[in-house]
Amino acid sequence: MTRPTILVLGTGGTIAGAGSGGTGVAYRPGGVALESLVAHLGALGLAADLVPEEIARIGSQDIGWAEWQALHGACTRALADPRIAGVIIAHGTDTAEETALLLDLTLPATKPVVLVGAMRPADAVGADGMRNFANAVKVAGDRHAAGRGVMLVMGDAVLAARDARKAATSSIDAFRSFPRGPLARVTPASLDWFGPPHRPGAAARYPFPAELPRVAILTAGAGMDARPVEALLGIGARGIVLAGMGQGNAPAVVLEALARCAASGVPVVRATRVDEGLVDRNVEVADDALGLVAARALGPAKARVLLMVLIANGITDPQAVQAAFDAG
Ligand code: GLU
Repeated sequence: MTRPTILVLGTGGTIAGAGSGGTGVAYRPGGVALESLVAHLGALGLAADLVPEEIARIGSQDIGWAEWQALHGACTRALADPRIAGVIIAHGTDTAEETALLLDLTLPATKPVVLVGAMRPADAVGADGMRNFANAVKVAGDRHAAGRGVMLVMGDAVLAARDARKAATSSIDAFRSFPRGPLARVTPASLDWFGPPHRPGAAARYPFPAELPRVAILTAGAGMDARPVEALLGIGARGIVLAGMGQGNAPAVVLEALARCAASGVPVVRATRVDEGLVDRNVEVADDALGLVAARALGPAKARVLLMVLIANGITDPQAVQAAFDAG
């Protein structure tokens, strides 16, 4: 059997974190160079050849437009290179769901692209990074992995970008898959897919943006007034995601202000500040009358990514934006 060649893109994060002193609390995300992580992995006897390329060495809270452009470019080149079987992106977990969804929306699904992270620094007791990485190698080198969009491998599970959500700040079992469960279970020894690929041979759903518009997340709170909405318009927000109460609710004055935004061509998507659950149309909020969009299963962080991609591609009409959110 030929060994797959896998491109490993490093961005930093806890998987490359160092300085914890084994049991300490503080550490530096990205403190370990990608070359030395990959050399370490080579010693694990994995059935793949790894080609490292360092994009950044930062905590993922600092990842943004420059890194996203670099990642998209590197993935595009790898998908076109017949020598490369798949791509692994080592990434901090804080914003892994955002990077994963952006790439999922803008890359073809012809080869596996897998984000992997860790909750404990590389030099900590009980570090999870090497196991997660070994699992990611198993996924990225698997011939049944294509056609499933961008994936996230954490804690022996393979999650689809559209469903992955960080739900815990420090436990090893930090990610949830909502509303669909994981795509597969993976260990260094086995990989079991739970269904067929859902995007076989699919082209990219949206062109990668030339630039990203400013889209803000506004978290609702009891007793708030409409001034935060006016402030967002004042700083040039081109779109607003409401992290609303319950099914995307907010005080009436806030909804009225958001409806004025929508009427002026600034699309407004209602998501929820609740950990999990759908936000559907016209439940307590009259979306049809107010011109608002329901985020459905996407939480605020991922709703913002999708809305940025839509606006960048000239899609701002509430019905068209709703159709994109309905498509998940
Ligand atoms: N804040 C860091 C990051 O997202 C640490 C979290 C992690 O990697 O798990 O890069």
